[in-house]
Amino acid sequence: MNQIKGIPALVLMLLALSSCGPKAQELTEAILPVNPSYFIQENLVQDITKEVHRLSVGPKAECYKIVVKSVPHEHQMGPWCPTHLEDGKEKGGIWFENGKVYDVDGHFISNIGEFYSDAKWKLYNDDGSIKVTQTQEECEGAAKPNVEEIYHNYCVECQPSFYHDHITTYYIPVNPVYRNRATKVRRGIMGLAFNGVNFDPPAPTEAILKAHTLAPLDDCGGHVNPHTGYHYHAVTGCTKEIPQNDQHAPMIGYAIDGFGIYALLDTAGNPPTGLDACGGHEDALRGYHYHAGEAGSNQILPCLNGAAGEMIVSH
Ligand SMILES: [Zn+2]
Ligand SMILES: [Zn+2]
Repeated sequence: MNQIKGIPALVLMLLALSSCGPKAQELTEAILPVNPSYFIQENLVQDITKEVHRLSVGPKAECYKIVVKSVPHEHQMGPWCPTHLEDGKEKGGIWFENGKVYDVDGHFISNIGEFYSDAKWKLYNDDGSIKVTQTQEECEGAAKPNVEEIYHNYCVECQPSFYHDHITTYYIPVNPVYRNRATKVRRGIMGLAFNGVNFDPPAPTEAILKAHTLAPLDDCGGHVNPHTGYHYHAVTGCTKEIPQNDQHAPMIGYAIDGFGIYALLDTAGNPPTGLDACGGHEDALRGYHYHAGEAGSNQILPCLNGAAGEMIVSH
């Protein structure tokens, strides 16, 4: 097949070359600056200001300083752990395994040994009540990387009220800097929703499961830890979205490097094409931007292609 509808093969070849975008080595579109008016004003502790701040690489740069309480404005937090084996899915949150999202209801808890092919699981008492961490001490004992022995076989949840005095400060570059070299972020954050709640790297499910504990997310993909308070590990469509003028997926937040994060599916339900390793690509309207991973992937963004700002939590 040398010609399609009369177009010479050479032209077709050039077209194919120009559209091989997945490994965006260099950007061809303009980079959009961060728009601070997208953030939900009610969640801000103070007005957004500009300040020169360090980035993960390269020189210091002008950043937006965004100071918030990491508490969503658009939705309730929880529930996470059901309390009885007879509880339906409305009494619990979600969990993910192998790319799939599961409702954490009483049935899931009673079945979990089978689910993970490990008979050591038993998250419930003989009367059918589920062992859930209750106090701040219990949640912190169970939420550590090295789970204390007495909290093995617990459904772990920390209440937002334990950390209500946490204040989160984000610095994101006003004009994102594309680096063309992906950065894996193991700790810290990948970005934030417009309500100021952070998008975290993947939950450390291996450590959690090894201790036969479960730390469910609520239906909005969030849960609470002692370090950053309420945070998301999945994007499920609960938070503020900025609709686009074309069919493109709505914007849902900013990565910590200042590039926009968009939902996965466009308005027709189609996934984006030509994404790089970090889930990013570019187009004429939005410049370089990311798309959030599927909820079951435990990965909102796999990595960053820009110089990252910083998140600082004070309490
Ligand atoms: Zn977490
Ligand atoms: Zn896109």
